[in-house]
Amino acid sequence: MAIKERRIKCAACGERVGVMRGERGPVTAYCDVCREERTREQARQRVAAKRERERMVGEWAGGIGARHFIETGETALLVFTRRGPAPGELFDYDTRDHTGRTGAWYINPKRSFDRVIIYRRDDQARKNVIYVATPRDEKMKEGRRYIIELTDVEARGDTSASWAQFTESKTGYRNPVRYLR
Ligand SMILES: [Zn+2]
Repeated sequence: MAIKERRIKCAACGERVGVMRGERGPVTAYCDVCREERTREQARQRVAAKRERERMVGEWAGGIGARHFIETGETALLVFTRRGPAPGELFDYDTRDHTGRTGAWYINPKRSFDRVIIYRRDDQARKNVIYVATPRDEKMKEGRRYIIELTDVEARGDTSASWAQFTESKTGYRNPVRYLR
């Protein structure tokens, strides 16, 4: 195939530039600057589409799964709790400064995660309310369990997904904590 340099008018900015031209015409319709910009934009769109697809994985017919609440590449500790029992035993937070704490759980204190997502079953209201929070580094030891201190605790709505669906587990999953990545 004969390749020669020809001048084209960039399809984006209109500048006349020399490009390589083969038998079927110019190999590009754009100048270097616009071609790079388009490549970057296409990469951005691919990443956005991939994020959206991954987010959709977290959507259930009957509600929203935990993956809906984390960004691509983030990890989360998912915690099941119930509304009701004595304060201090379970997840609790201050609605004014958005700090809080989980209940005490058997977890590896060295394992780190970006988010804590609380699935709180409210039997009276018959719904499962979701809270998303940022964990502090320090964990409080309580016997062989650990309490995670939280900041930026926010209620993010409720879901009709079961705990197993919410955590992307097998039906009947009973462990109250689960890691998601
Ligand atoms: Zn151009």
